[in-house]
Amino acid sequence: MFIYSKLLKDELAQIKLEKYIVLYFAVYNSEPAFYLFFFEKILRFKFIEILLTKNKSIILSNVILKNMVNRRNFLKSSAAVVVGGLVADQLATSCTPTSKKKIGLQLYSLRDAIKDDVKGTLKKVAEMGYSTVETAGYNDGKVYGLAPIEFKKIVEDLGMKVSSAHVVQVFMKEKEAEIMEWWKKASGAHAVLGVKYLVQAFMPVNEQTTMDEIKLYCDYYNNVGYITAAAGGIGFGYHNHSFEFRKIGEKLIYDFMLENTSPNHVFFEMDVYWITEGGQSAAGYINKYTDRFPVLHIKDEKELGVSGKMDFKPIFEAAYSKGLKEYYVEVEKYTGNDPFLSVKQSFDYLANAEYVK
Ligand code: MG
Repeated sequence: MFIYSKLLKDELAQIKLEKYIVLYFAVYNSEPAFYLFFFEKILRFKFIEILLTKNKSIILSNVILKNMVNRRNFLKSSAAVVVGGLVADQLATSCTPTSKKKIGLQLYSLRDAIKDDVKGTLKKVAEMGYSTVETAGYNDGKVYGLAPIEFKKIVEDLGMKVSSAHVVQVFMKEKEAEIMEWWKKASGAHAVLGVKYLVQAFMPVNEQTTMDEIKLYCDYYNNVGYITAAAGGIGFGYHNHSFEFRKIGEKLIYDFMLENTSPNHVFFEMDVYWITEGGQSAAGYINKYTDRFPVLHIKDEKELGVSGKMDFKPIFEAAYSKGLKEYYVEVEKYTGNDPFLSVKQSFDYLANAEYVK
């Protein structure tokens, strides 16, 4: 155990962390979850990023931790403290500022192509200039039919990162134990994939749905958030469509969900197109429910900027002011017959937009 032999618990506890700390540890024949628990529960750090290396011979993680005790000071600081010397090269890479905009893609945008050719599709995505991808192809421990470590390698060899993933698991009280086991397995697979976020893509709601049923889902999501956090600090989120902006009684479903889920365990990946279709203001929600929207879906009816329905500028301005972490372009419908062209056009739209940093 690399770090444990070098840094005893007391020494770690005495470090006054007001900055990012990159901890480098190799765990031989041990559960990384134990160390994650130790850092979070004992030392009160919050994980913000976990990276697995390409070295398959050992389980090896760089963990960037955030000191919750000194959160204010932490936020003011941009310096890095390195514990463990072997990480220097990787740290230099991960902290090097780049002028390129970090634009992500929800791979649902290329859902047919990626089914046929995972590698070829991702290669084209990288060539367009995308930096990150959000998957939408999880099934039974695999991602687009591949072991998570294989999919991760393909993406990282192309210079991108898999930072988020969509999954769907409906809730049934009578099958709760089985469903929670499903989430544990899914969280484990996505921890290997290296995502920061795991997102429920939708939930079943119809005209007969009651607020009691929505409340059951809120409790469910809180519980799922604990499971994803335990699997390497993955944040759990919910992705909206437009049906969440219907009222049950006097209350919008979405508002009820925001108010009945724990901010510590559930975030909301706002789809800015669907909230607009639902008759609400994306920027208004971002400003009102501060800290609940670290991740956005940047979507339009077809390619970005074509429908005339979406004004992305105030959305980005609000999101940046509230600490936007990631966003993913999503293209669901295409003007022509070539989804790749639509996805590239959407990248260029944001790359050329002065309000996108
Ligand atoms: Mg979406």
